[in-house]
Amino acid sequence: MEILIPADRIRERVDELGAEIATDFDGRPITVVGVLTGCLIFLADLIRRLSHPTQVALLQASSYRGTATTAGRLDIHDELLPDLTGHHVLVLDDILDTGQTISRIVDHLKAKGAASVRTCVLLRKIGRQQVAFEPDYAGFPIPDKFVVGYGLDFNGLYRHLPFIAVLPELPATEA
Ligand code: 5GP
Ligand code: MG
Ligand code: MG
Repeated sequence: MEILIPADRIRERVDELGAEIATDFDGRPITVVGVLTGCLIFLADLIRRLSHPTQVALLQASSYRGTATTAGRLDIHDELLPDLTGHHVLVLDDILDTGQTISRIVDHLKAKGAASVRTCVLLRKIGRQQVAFEPDYAGFPIPDKFVVGYGLDFNGLYRHLPFIAVLPELPATEA
């Protein structure tokens, strides 16, 4: 397994993101909404860099991809969210790939009454985006490879790795 981003580099970048977010929010209360399950480790690390009043909430998004290139369906499970009316929300996700997931979550949270919705992703895959969407904070641009670790999984595995790694090429399946 090839290490793409080592643990100490992630730590430095999460420090920088936390400082940037703290400056921008300038002491105003913030509700961090993590997107399960990939956000877990990033969320735990990032929120400990925020010194202003911070509430943590979680939702789950499940996407069902038609093919590698079509959007498919996205189910947003928000049963665990508190009432977000009037909240200043920061959505945290592990990776922005096509952009479908996070852009639809933003629309969903605005519809639920959030006063503002900003977004933060740890990773951003270059050359894959399909919807016009700019995250407010992004940790690392990465090449178009399937990555695992630091929360990101392959079939439920590898989330626990403290670094971001590229999985070896999967055997091509017959068309
Ligand atoms: P999007 O909706 O932006 O296309 O996809 C975002 C979601 O796809 C991420 O939250 C993540 O769950 C999954 N995803 C996209 N690329 C990767 C990757 O390289 N590795 C892993 N583990 N998940 C990915
Ligand atoms: Mg995800
Ligand atoms: Mg996954």
